[in-house]
Amino acid sequence: MTEQTTPGRQEEEIQAELDRLRSQISELQEAKRHLESELKETSSGAPAPITTSAELEATLRWFLRRVGMIMQAEKAALMLYEPESGELVAQSPALGLTQDEIEIFRVRATQGVSGQVFREGRPIITDDATSDPRTVKENVALLNIHNALTVPLVVERKDAEGMVIEKNSIGVFHVFNKRNDARFAEEDVTLITALARSAASVISSAKLYIAVANEKRELERTLQGMLAGVLVVDSDTRVRLMNSAARHMFGIPTEDGTGKPLAQVIRDEDVHDLIRSCLSGDAEANAELSVYSPEERIYQVQTALLKGEGNGISGVVATFNDITELRSVERMKSEFVSTVSHELRTPLTSIKGFIRTLIEDSDGYYDRDTQMEFYRIIDTECDRLVRLISDLLNLSRIESGRALELVLTDVDLGEVINQVVDSQRSYTNTHEFDIVVQDDLPTLVADRDKVDQMLTNLLSNAIKYSPDGGKITVHAREVADKIAVSVTDEGLGIPEEHIARLFTRFHRVDSRDSRKQYGTGIGLYLVKHLVEAHHGEVSVDSTLGQGSTFTFVLPKVSPEQAAQQSAAEPAKQSAGEPPPAEAS
Ligand code: ADP
Repeated sequence: MTEQTTPGRQEEEIQAELDRLRSQISELQEAKRHLESELKETSSGAPAPITTSAELEATLRWFLRRVGMIMQAEKAALMLYEPESGELVAQSPALGLTQDEIEIFRVRATQGVSGQVFREGRPIITDDATSDPRTVKENVALLNIHNALTVPLVVERKDAEGMVIEKNSIGVFHVFNKRNDARFAEEDVTLITALARSAASVISSAKLYIAVANEKRELERTLQGMLAGVLVVDSDTRVRLMNSAARHMFGIPTEDGTGKPLAQVIRDEDVHDLIRSCLSGDAEANAELSVYSPEERIYQVQTALLKGEGNGISGVVATFNDITELRSVERMKSEFVSTVSHELRTPLTSIKGFIRTLIEDSDGYYDRDTQMEFYRIIDTECDRLVRLISDLLNLSRIESGRALELVLTDVDLGEVINQVVDSQRSYTNTHEFDIVVQDDLPTLVADRDKVDQMLTNLLSNAIKYSPDGGKITVHAREVADKIAVSVTDEGLGIPEEHIARLFTRFHRVDSRDSRKQYGTGIGLYLVKHLVEAHHGEVSVDSTLGQGSTFTFVLPKVSPEQAAQQSAAEPAKQSAGEPPPAEAS
């Protein structure tokens, strides 16, 4: 039974208190309406949708300040549920909490008032946080909490009629320490629940937007960084997207072309036909196209249809892979096989011919000198075969990644040059040889056979590519701590555009002379590898129609010492030492 109250002064006081509370409630309700409409504006995206983390932070800061003002609370914090850790984690910004406090404020979703509100989806008022058995005492002490109002953060999904069809709890919202030693009341619960709902919707849609925007940016970066060209065309054959590789392939300036009809952007008819036939025939294609922009490039093109709503075709995405080099190596390889066959057959035919002639000469028709001449030719042709086979073996060693093994000795270069020139002399009677070796040329530490091979390849080229004969000069001299050897001829010379690719495998200059010179296109490639195995360099200087000079420079010391020296050289030079002076 309640105690009987008497009318009078006490009743008047209660009435006055009720009036005061009513007017406070109506003030708060007005503020709530105002806040809700502002939040709605922010979340509906009409004036300024939240698209970045910074914008979301600014909105939340503003929201928390307003909540603090309206609720007369010292502190307020949003906690979001993190499924990976199973924790509710305080978010930045928070009202009245330092950054350190925000970072420490986290609880398991099974713990404390926060956990209970999150799990049950019902608000809780804590009048005395210190003595309430439900609170987590470390957090109460850490954040200096006296009393609290905690409501769930729920995101609602509504249907067209505005009916809530799905509710998803994403965290909790705390308001701490009502000012003037007051307590949180039921009216506060209604107000803060509504505000929390709006805040939850702002947070979840902004986070979704930011995540999608980040993913989009990431995707764009990946797309732009791809080596393959990517072109997206819609069902009206308008360009929707083109990455920088595709722009480069078709010579289109940056950012130009998106939204325009394909025919205006890419001139190549084959590309149009491929995209159109793909769009009209619903078929995905895998084709090889040659594009001239301005030089011919070969692309492997793959298309895939893009399906829109209702499974209709909304466009086509085409990827372009540049396979020009691949095709050219394939072509060169097949040419190589036929030239190698020819190179093998020519000396064999000659050897066979002379041997047969000698066998059949039972009557002794040919005199001793003629027979000796035949034997010399057979010997020379055998040398040619041995050289070709050793070139092929070296090529296969390089191709399979096995380094060329060097057998190092002290090499007297003057002696090697004399020997190679002597043996090459036997292949020609239209060339004159001149050997210029510097007096007292020091020996070098190198693989003698490989140096022989470099010289042999350069000299046989000098003979082969000066079909009218002329002088061939071999010049050896000391240059600083290296030795330079050059082979100069007065032959056909090399067109400028071939110089850069001369040392690549299978590269041959098209025959510019009616007397086609056969070859495999691996001689210079091997010279380059042999020279580089010695840490040296090879170069060419040529004038078309006048002749060429091939020069290789080898270090005097062993390749290991040369490698150590070249590693130490930049350090030495950066320390201010002058480069070594050239020896005369
Ligand atoms: P090959 O002689 O078997 O074709 P190489 O690799 O030795 O292969 O030479 C590549 C190409 O470089 C030759 O096909 C030739 O066109 C050109 N070349 C090489 N040496 C000379 C030279 N001394 N003068 C003119 N052209 C040369």
